[in-house]
Parts: sequence; C-alpha cells; structure tokens
Amino acid sequence: MANKTVKELAQISKQTPEVVLKQLTDAGLPARGENDVVSEAEQEHLVSFLKQSHGEKKSRISLKSRTTSTAQVTGTSGKSKTVNVVRTKKVVYEKPDPAKIEAQIAAQAKAAEEERLKAIEAKQAAERSKKEAAERQAATLAAMRANTAPAEKAETASVVVKKTKKEEVAVEIKTDKKKAQPAKPAKTESAEDKAARQAREAEEDRLRQMEAETRRKAAEEAQKRTLEQMKQMASRYNDNEETATSAVVRTRDDAPLADGLVGKALEESFEKERREIKRGTAGNSGKNSKKGGRRNQEEREIKTKARGLKSSQANKHKFEMPVEKIVHNVEVGEGIVVSDLAQKMAVKVREVIKALMKMGEMVREGDTIDQDTAGLVIEEFGHILVPVSETKLEDDLQEAVNEKSGNIQTRPPVVTIMGHVDHGKTSLLDKIRATKVASGEAGGITQHIGAYHVETERGVITFLDTPGHAAFTAMRSRGAQATDIVVLVVAADDGMMPQTEEAIDHARAAGTPLIVAINKMDKDTADPDRVINELSVKEVIPEEWGGDVPMVRVSAKSGMGIDELLEVISIQAEVMELEAPVDGAAQGVVIESRLDKGRGAVASLLVKKGTLNQGDLVLAGEYYGKVRAMTDENGQRIKHAGPSIPVEILGLPEAPAAGSEFLVVSDEKKAREVADFRAARERDRILERQNKMRLDTLFDSMGNSEVATLNIILKTDVRGSLEALLGALDELSTDEVKVRVISSGVGAITESDVILAESSEAVLLGFNVRADNAGKKKADAAGLDIRYYSVIYGLIDDVKAAMSGMLAPEHREQILGIAEVREVFRSSKFGAAAGCMVQEGTIHRNKPIRVLRDDKVIFTGQLQSLRRYKDDVNEVKAGMECGLAVKGYEVAVGDKIEVFEIHEVRREL
Ligand code: GDP
Repeated sequence: MANKTVKELAQISKQTPEVVLKQLTDAGLPARGENDVVSEAEQEHLVSFLKQSHGEKKSRISLKSRTTSTAQVTGTSGKSKTVNVVRTKKVVYEKPDPAKIEAQIAAQAKAAEEERLKAIEAKQAAERSKKEAAERQAATLAAMRANTAPAEKAETASVVVKKTKKEEVAVEIKTDKKKAQPAKPAKTESAEDKAARQAREAEEDRLRQMEAETRRKAAEEAQKRTLEQMKQMASRYNDNEETATSAVVRTRDDAPLADGLVGKALEESFEKERREIKRGTAGNSGKNSKKGGRRNQEEREIKTKARGLKSSQANKHKFEMPVEKIVHNVEVGEGIVVSDLAQKMAVKVREVIKALMKMGEMVREGDTIDQDTAGLVIEEFGHILVPVSETKLEDDLQEAVNEKSGNIQTRPPVVTIMGHVDHGKTSLLDKIRATKVASGEAGGITQHIGAYHVETERGVITFLDTPGHAAFTAMRSRGAQATDIVVLVVAADDGMMPQTEEAIDHARAAGTPLIVAINKMDKDTADPDRVINELSVKEVIPEEWGGDVPMVRVSAKSGMGIDELLEVISIQAEVMELEAPVDGAAQGVVIESRLDKGRGAVASLLVKKGTLNQGDLVLAGEYYGKVRAMTDENGQRIKHAGPSIPVEILGLPEAPAAGSEFLVVSDEKKAREVADFRAARERDRILERQNKMRLDTLFDSMGNSEVATLNIILKTDVRGSLEALLGALDELSTDEVKVRVISSGVGAITESDVILAESSEAVLLGFNVRADNAGKKKADAAGLDIRYYSVIYGLIDDVKAAMSGMLAPEHREQILGIAEVREVFRSSKFGAAAGCMVQEGTIHRNKPIRVLRDDKVIFTGQLQSLRRYKDDVNEVKAGMECGLAVKGYEVAVGDKIEVFEIHEVRREL
C-alpha cells in the first residue's frame, strides 16, 4: 500500500473522489483536495474505519415505534391551528464498541453543531417568512377591500390541515453520521417547533450516548470480574500466579504457550469476551437467523466447556470460560523418555525441553531423564508425579498368576555347567545326555533347545546346555535366576584357570551352590589334589576337608563318576528343598530364542512354576502369543510341561531375549498392556545405550587421544550366545581401550553389516554364523576380514589380545572349502549321502567339517566318505560335483559343508 492521491483511491474503489473525501473526513482524517496525497497509515485507518462501518450494518437492529402528537401550525392566513402529527420513530441500535463510540461522539457533536446552525438559519428564515406573510396579509386585506371572496381562504386552510394530518414525520436517530439524516420536519412545522424538536432529539442522542457509555463501562467491569475469576480458578491449582496464568492459557488452547505469549493470549481472551458481550446485546435479533443458530451452538459448546462452573455464571457473561485445568497423574518409572513425558502431560515436547533447559538440563526429545528430574518438570507443569515401580504392571499380573497356582510339590533342580574353556563342559553335558537320555527315548532326535532333563534314580535333573559363565550372567542380568546349582568343571590336568575363578565369582554373586566336577580323570596327567589345593585358595573347600563344596572326580570321556555326580546334584537339590506349585498358569524363563525361516519365532522356555499347556497365551519378554506347538528336547510333541521342564514353543510373533521371564496369562488385554510397557522400557534402554555411545563419541572427539576405541560388529546364531558375548565384551573396556559393539544381532553377516563395518572401521565377528553370499562378496571387494568363532572364549580372547596389542601367534582355523548340498539320497553303505557342488576352495576328505544351514553352524564333525562318481577321493576342487556323507549327521538339500583346518597364525584384528 503506497501513498495515493484521493483521485487514485477513488479509481481503485470505483467511487467518486467526493465520496472518498467524505469517507476520509468521516474516518476523522484531515480534509483535503482531490489531488492531495493519502498516506499509507491513513489508508489503513480508512480501511479499518470502513470495515467497522460495514460490520455495523450487519450488527444493527432497528426498532420502529409510532407516536401521535399535536403541533401548532400557522397557515398562510396567519392563523395558528392545532393539527395531529403521527411520528414513525425508527431507532437503530448498534453494538457498543469503545473505539467506535468515540468516533460516534465526535460525529454526533459535529451533527449537533450543524443542526444548531441550521436551526438558527431556519429561525432567521422563519422571521423572514413571517415578515413576508405580514406583508402578504396586508396586501390581501387591501384586495379584500377590493371584493375578494373570503370563503376561499377558509377552504385553503382546511386543505392544509387535511394534508398535515396525512403527513408523517420520520425521525431517524442514528449514531452513524454517514447514515444519519436530519429529521424531516413537517412541511407545516414552524421554525420554533423545529428548533424545539431538534433540541429534544439532541437531548435524546445525549441520553443514548450516556446509556451506551454506561453499558460499555458495565461490560468492562464484568470483564475484569471474569478475569479475576479466571485467575482465581487457575491459582487453585497453582500458588504462583504466573504459572496459574499459563495454566489457563494451556487449557484453553490445548497447548502451553511461552510466558511471553501469556499477555497476548489474555488479550485474545479479552477480545473474545468483548465479542461475546456484543453478541449478548444483539442476541435477540439474530436468534432465529442461521447465524444466530450457529451462535447458539457456539454458546452451548462454551457452556459445555465450562463444566464445573455454575451455568448461571457462564450465561451471565457469555464468554468462553476456561476449561477446568486437568491435573494429570503422571506415572514415571526409574526413567522416562522426554517425548513420553510430554505425551503423558499432554503438552508439547519443546515445552518440556524448554522447562528442562531452565533447570540446566540440555536434553533432546529422545533422551531419558530420571524420575527425580521428571518429577520437577511435572511439578512445573502443575501435574502430579506418581512414581511407579518399574515392575508394577508385571507384579500385578504375577500376583494374578500366583493366586491361581497351587499343589506345591518338589521340583527338579536346574543345573548350569561352568568352567574354563576346554575343561570339558560340552563333553560332560553330552556324556550325561548320551547315557541318560538317548538310550531311553526311542526314535527321538537330539535337539538343541538350550536345556534338557535326565531321569536318574533319585529323580529328574534339568541341565541348561549353554555352558559358560557369560550365558549364566547374561540370564541373571535380566533378573532370571534360572539356575539352582552350578557344576564347576575343572580339568584335573590343568587346574585352576582364569575362567574357573570367574565362574566361582559369578556363582557366588548369584548365591548359587557349587559342585565341583574334577574332569579328565582318565588322563595320566590328572592331578585332582592339586586342583583341590588351588580351589581352596579361592575358598572353595571340599566337604572332605570340612568345607561345604561337594567335589566329584569324573571323566567325560570314559563316563567315570557321572552317576556319582548326578547323585550329588540330587542330594544338593534335596537339601535345598526345591519346590514349586504344579497347578495353575505356568511361569518361567526364556532360555533361548531364534527366528526360524519356516516356523517363525522359536523360543525355548524353562517352566519354573505351574504347568504350561499347548494353547496357553504366553507373555514372554515384550511379546505374547498362543502356544501353537510344543516339543521337548528330543523333538517329541508334548501337550503339557511342569516345573523345571524345558520346552520349545512356536506361536510368539518375535524372538524374545534370552533370560526374559515368561508367564501364561488369561487376559489378552493385560498381556498387550504389559507387552507394550516392556517394549517401551526396552526402547528406553536402547536409547540409553545409544546416548552413552554419543557421549563416548563426544569424549573421543574432545581430543582424548589416549583412549582408543575398538569397534565391533557381532552376529551370532542364537540370542543366548549374543547376550552372553555382549555381556562379556562389555566388561572388556579398559582405561586405554574402549570396546564398542556398534551393531549386533542374530543371523548371517549381511551386506549392510559389511558396509557398516567399512564406514565405521569396525571388525566383523561371526559366532557360529557366516556371511551370506552378498555379504561375502562385499567383504571381499572391500578387503575386509571376517572373523568366525564357535567358542565364546575364543572370541573374547581374540578381542582381549587385540586390545592389549599382544597378538601372540596362536592356533586359528582357516576355511579350506565350501560345498553346497544339491540332493540327498540313501546309500546302503553310508545311510544318507549328499550330492554336492564345490563352490569355493577344496573339500578335503580328512579334515574337520561343519554343516551350515541358513549360514548358521548346525553341526561340527567329519566326513564319512568323499567321492567323485564312484571313486573315493581325498579332495575335490571348486566347480566340481561330488558325493559325500557326514559322519553321524544327516544333511539336507541347501546345507553347506565347510571344510576347515586349524593352523598357527599371527593374529591381528
Ligand atoms: P569345553 O570348552 O569346556 O566345552 O570343553 P570340551 O567339552 O569342548 O572339551 C575340550 C577337549 O577336552 C575336547 O577335545 C574333549 O574331547 C576333551 N575332553 C573333555 N572331557 C574329557 C575327559 O574327561 N577326558 C579326556 N581325556 N578328554 C576330555
């Protein structure tokens, strides 16, 4: 809007310059000529004035009334006569607007002044006409004297009176000068009458203005009162008035406003109220119109919003009452993510971040804050902190389950075997199983489900078959105390080793009783006394020395002492008086889980209490689902599993983490609730871990170059080993070297893992998994080395060695060749034989092999035969077909046979 002349404005608004000039003066702007300039500010003023005038049109109401009065009329004859005067009075009311009223007063004063001048003029004119009439009268008299008929005069007079009777005096009283028109006096009205009438009208105007003014003041008073009420209402929740105001604002707009905006919001509320007052004044006229209908609707809404307030109060002022502030009870566990906190308080995240910033906490919306900090924020926003135990929801569910359980009976002990690498844990587990299970279960195929149970003369014993303290600790860190007894394996020819010590520490930390199995007693070099001596240094004192730790001499190779070991375990269990309710909903722990291509999530559960049935609704970790199928460790379908019995189940949507607690619930809604809660908690944990990483990065980049970081990408076959390895790696960080697992998961090493390793300079470690084809190609192209392991300590030792920089030459395996199984056929001589294609390297007849399925190691052993056509051969090279049989294992189409050898290399990571 630039400066424009009056003429230009007239052209734009398609009006004559005169109209525009009049509008300008009406708007209270200085008078000027057609070619004079109207400034931008003046134009704006004019536009708003015209808008207001336009608005008035809509909000005006007219009331018509008829009054009949008499008036003294002087006829041409000079005689004064009384005539009836009918006045149709049209009163136009308009909404009071303080801003307009001033303009109106000025306009009316101007009009009154004009009227006064006109009245003076009229008086002078009347005097003039009186004089003329007197002169005319004299002339008439003179004419009469010259025989003019006097009857005619009377007739004229009567006509005048008739006419006067029909005449209507329209009096329009207007507050808007533009519309106001001077009252049309009766043609017969005398100048004095006119002056009197005008004076009366001016008085009426004055009174009306006074009335308008009074009404405006009353409205303002009401506004003030209401504002006061609003403040009081808000301060009921907040002592501090500033907070109270912001609370009002927040509830009004469903979102909090910054303090600086409070004033603006109040202004808006004032304006809104002003409109309501106006509406109230003109309310009757619009009630039946469409607009009025909508307005009533709005009013109803306002009333509904003003719940909790007296409705009479709401009606009286007719403005939007503030919604009663909702005070939320905000439940917070040990920590809460900032965005979740905002959501729980129904405020915007940035408001929460701002509040935290004021407290000196610089956070992002994904960050987790602790309960105390959250409490301060909650208080700041006027809500109430409800500290909840992290496990409240779960506890409730647990209680419900406990109530139903009953029939307490002795339950089998659950045993974990721990010890240093190569001391014979796996061999011992295999031996126990072989002697106690395989023979008994006809047709059963041994399955690795993370645990198995054996029947002994003294009862059932359950073994968790993921050996090692790392797995034990990982499970315990999730709060799952699955193990009742720890069997510590120490090789009689090797004695106490670092991991033996660690195992003792872990068992002690968990308060789990220990039984020592001194293994490899078949060896000539076996020296059990040395072992006992060394153990006693660690305060593991054998019963025979007066201590409380049973020690059994065994040989996993020959089977010597196995029965005794089992008996000692049973006795220990009896001493412990292990009991559990057999009836009622099952609960226990997830010992392993994985995603199977064909079957979906497969989870191994160990029942601790109650009985698990096929079809039960199981909540495991953060997932829940109905048990579709249940098998035992021999692959047999079963329908029920009681306390201490391990089973593998199908039916969960995802693989829950090893060590997660599971329980059977009857209520799906509750299950979902707890599952959601756990998922949120898990998300918090992940975020926390990521935050730590960010802090680490920050720390590193701050130039603390003394701290080196070893980045690792880790993939494993099952969740159990992943958790175990993550736990173990976590503990490796030293002041000089930080171990950081930047990515981990279950399954083959993929192309994206390799890309990540490349970009973040990480080492790729596979535990019982291999890289898939794309991953392998990518790694080859990038020149990245992928490390494969099948022993937890092998991996840990390598990482340790890499950290210390002391990479001594050690034995390491090297993959020599890979063949893929194309078909399987039965051979009378070897049982199942496989037709294969050698894909890489060379397949050797006499070297150790592994069978891989979906890039995971499922079997380690050796070949029974290797053939090219009908001939036995020692090796087959890449690109050739061959027939082979694996000793003790039936391969399937799609499996890969990997031939490897162990040789000495200088390690470097
Ligand atoms: P783990 O690492 O503790 O699970 O140990 P393993 O069970 O894999 O055994 C390591 C090595 O020790 C294997 O070569 C076994 O054959 C061997 N071994 C295990 N137990 C015995 C035993 O009682 N006697 C003999 N002579 N060798 C054993």
